[in-house]
Amino acid sequence: MFDPLLLALIMVSIAAGFFLGYRQRRQSQRQRQEGSLNSEYFVGLNYLLNEQTDEAIESFIKALEINADTIDTYIVLGRLFRRRGEIEKAIQAHQDLLARPSLTHEQSLRVQLELAHDYIKAGLLDRGESLLEDMLKTPWSGADESVQLLLSVYEQEKEWQKAIDVIHQAQGVDSHLYQHQLAHYHCELAEAALEGNDVLTARKNLRLAFARDRDNVRATLILGSLECSLKSYRESARVLQRIYQQNPLFISESIPLLERCFEALWSSRGLSVYLGKCLREYPSAAVVLASARLIARQQGDKEAGRFIAEQIVKRPSLKGLNALIDLNIENTEGRPRQNLMLLRELTGRLLESKPVYRCTQCGFDGKTLHWRCPRCHQWGTTEPIMGIEGE
Ligand SMILES: [Zn+2]
Repeated sequence: MFDPLLLALIMVSIAAGFFLGYRQRRQSQRQRQEGSLNSEYFVGLNYLLNEQTDEAIESFIKALEINADTIDTYIVLGRLFRRRGEIEKAIQAHQDLLARPSLTHEQSLRVQLELAHDYIKAGLLDRGESLLEDMLKTPWSGADESVQLLLSVYEQEKEWQKAIDVIHQAQGVDSHLYQHQLAHYHCELAEAALEGNDVLTARKNLRLAFARDRDNVRATLILGSLECSLKSYRESARVLQRIYQQNPLFISESIPLLERCFEALWSSRGLSVYLGKCLREYPSAAVVLASARLIARQQGDKEAGRFIAEQIVKRPSLKGLNALIDLNIENTEGRPRQNLMLLRELTGRLLESKPVYRCTQCGFDGKTLHWRCPRCHQWGTTEPIMGIEGE
């Protein structure tokens, strides 16, 4: 619903804008070009409009069309058109502005950045890409925003090497601020190489990923999986256990591979020691269930059931409960068995309906571990969900 208070605020802001615009036109030519008063005013309006309604934007666009004589006005007008999906109008507003001979170099770059946003929103990725690449040949105040926009294009196109190169080559950009992102780009290249069975290229990119971010769990999981597939089980187990220090939330992701490695090494003792350590410091359903499987092999189902029951009391878990019911179904007959199967179906369905991973930035959740969040597009912000319905 339209908020009368918001409308009042916008109308007061527009009135203030006309007043400032009137005063500014009477000031010197230099001040008019810099548009310093308007900058502040339009930044404020942009902020106000974050909670806007369509009607409010429309009235604002009309107000700006009448008063469109400064660079800031044109930029805000173009942004509003873009926000409403009227990309052609946005492109027109920004191209008109670019044609002005009075623009300084910095102002021209600011308008080009807006134009690049328009092209990308319109799906004209190639045009946006080449505009941004040209803009990054010289240092300027908007270099970081330009790099981030260009990276979003390369990410859509899965051009990981180009993304890496632009971070290193862009003028006026500190590549150290992008280390975390760079590590993920190298992981993408490593995964692509492994799909083509190019182990050397994969290893090279994993080394580079660790050089950028030594605690990158994704690179650790890829390397652990690679070593395991090459039957280097001891090395794989060594690599995967690093997750304990890197980010214990991801221990659960490494458990299936670790079980495979220790089994191949005939080392129940090695697995038992590691799981025991995890259980003490960073307990999760995956660790409890892997421990229970180990106990079942060594001491039988009854002991494994006792262990799970003990753990569920300490730390309630739907996955643990399911495993406990499964063990009891195996050793029960007749009516009690049927009842247990019914209960198991219900708890299974309950677990099935729950997400497994969640982004810590925007809350996007689902059953797939996305290293780049599909909603907020941040890298490495999605984690396994802990607690009774998760790990
Ligand atoms: Zn997110």
